[in-house]
Amino acid sequence: MDLKKLAAALIPDTGLLPPEEYEKIYPERDRAPKAEVTRLAPSPTGFIHLGNLYSALADERSAHTTGGIFYLRIEDTDEKRRVDGAVESVIRSLNYFGINFDEGAELNSPLNKYGPYYQRRRAEIYRSFVKRLLEQGLAYPCFCTEDELNAVRENQTAEKKTTGYYGEYAKCRNLSEEQIYENLRAGKPFVIRLKSQGSIENKMTFRDAIKGDITVTENDQDVVILKSDGIPTYHFAHAIDDHFMRTTLVIRGEEWLSSLPVHIELHKVLGFKPPRYAHTCSLMKMDGGTKRKLSKRKDPELSLDFYRKAGYYPVAVVKYLMTILNSDFEEWSLKNPDADYRDFKFRIEKMSRSGALFDLDKLNDISKNEISRLSAKQCFDFLKGWAEEFGTDKDKAHFADEEYIIKVLELVMGVGGKKRRKDIERAEQGVRLIDYFFDDAFAPEYNYRFDKATVNTVLEEFAKTYDPADDNSVWFNKVKAIAPKVGFASEMSEYKANPEAYKGNVSDIAEILRIAVTGMPNSPDLCTIMRILGKGRAVARLKKGMI
Ligand code: GLU
Repeated sequence: MDLKKLAAALIPDTGLLPPEEYEKIYPERDRAPKAEVTRLAPSPTGFIHLGNLYSALADERSAHTTGGIFYLRIEDTDEKRRVDGAVESVIRSLNYFGINFDEGAELNSPLNKYGPYYQRRRAEIYRSFVKRLLEQGLAYPCFCTEDELNAVRENQTAEKKTTGYYGEYAKCRNLSEEQIYENLRAGKPFVIRLKSQGSIENKMTFRDAIKGDITVTENDQDVVILKSDGIPTYHFAHAIDDHFMRTTLVIRGEEWLSSLPVHIELHKVLGFKPPRYAHTCSLMKMDGGTKRKLSKRKDPELSLDFYRKAGYYPVAVVKYLMTILNSDFEEWSLKNPDADYRDFKFRIEKMSRSGALFDLDKLNDISKNEISRLSAKQCFDFLKGWAEEFGTDKDKAHFADEEYIIKVLELVMGVGGKKRRKDIERAEQGVRLIDYFFDDAFAPEYNYRFDKATVNTVLEEFAKTYDPADDNSVWFNKVKAIAPKVGFASEMSEYKANPEAYKGNVSDIAEILRIAVTGMPNSPDLCTIMRILGKGRAVARLKKGMI
């Protein structure tokens, strides 16, 4: 058979560069021997989930702890799944979690020398290689229809045979030259298949960067490499792309492990040295006593939007994922509480070989801890960011006054002091916590424990004498001074010695004031709260609190 003529008939494109040219266009990268080149290669479906972030973090850490490159490639071979704006959304989502690409799609980077980074824009490269494989007799056209393929599959299933297009089932493998040209003349659509050289009798050892040595059976399937629309399959495109983008380490989900034999063979027939592969375990969760994969349908926590909307501190999510990625991260983090997680020596080889268990409680703990370590300004930026995206109009307006909120946060979160608040897991809780510092969000519940006359006297008396210039001790003396007017003990010792003699004590007076000013029986230091509110608002609240 004249293979050159056949290749030209099947891939008639003129002006295709010969495969060798691409070696020159995309030369080996100038990198240190251990520097890893990794990539995130999502389909532009618009849904970016925790698994992508987990994988992206492993890619990003592998590249950046070795002085390498992390790039973004868009695997858009399936046009039906493409969603507008999806690529920007991937970049934005990952940026939010502090993960940045060095190179790739939609990045205006001087490093962008290995593009285009969209597979659909790389059609010529793929076609040049398909043409070469056809010329070498390592690929062939297949005219089987969907119905024919289904019938074969049904037969194979009924006979308990391995399904697929291989050996005796690979009907078009043996088409004569005449039959092929006849089909072409008849305008029959065709795909191009690999003419597999492998046999399932042959086993080989493959070293996965995570799973270690695994035994792999050679591929014997004549997989499709070019679809009838002229666009390659994932198998073929990724082999070409990872070679010419000079990827050194492919980190991908273990669902790809079953196609590894195909990928090994493709690299071989294309004459490429395969990159290292690392197959990561799926994220699992406990559900009613059994472990199962996180599912898009059942688990809202799979979506990254969940974490943004809920207002988790982004670094906390990343640190949490680091604990899953490398089991010694947690210990390191405890020993180095102030260190940036990027200082940890991440290694792909340390990743778990079995299912990674997702645990929201643990994330909550890490988030609490991270939030409790923020400076007032960091806390302000974090809460404001959340309020701007997910808060109400009132929330947004509140964050306009940075100076005021910083004062509030210093008090409420205990920033810089000993009484650091450690129970805030999410931005929304933080934003709600400061609501009472704004009149338009102040929704008090006046649950006083004393009668009307007592409450009103306390509030009225205090309003008369309140001066924001008072320091804590003057302020407290004024609180004490009210006690005899309502039959309360002004000293705790007096009260404890003879509780029956009093209706209450000085701390009950403070509680009445606190309920009037904050709407709650417990709050941070009331004297400071009133000072932050200022005289006008503090006194207005004392008056409003009368019953
Ligand atoms: N486009 C593939 C996916 O989204 C990428 C797999 C890989 O990283 O090679 O699953």
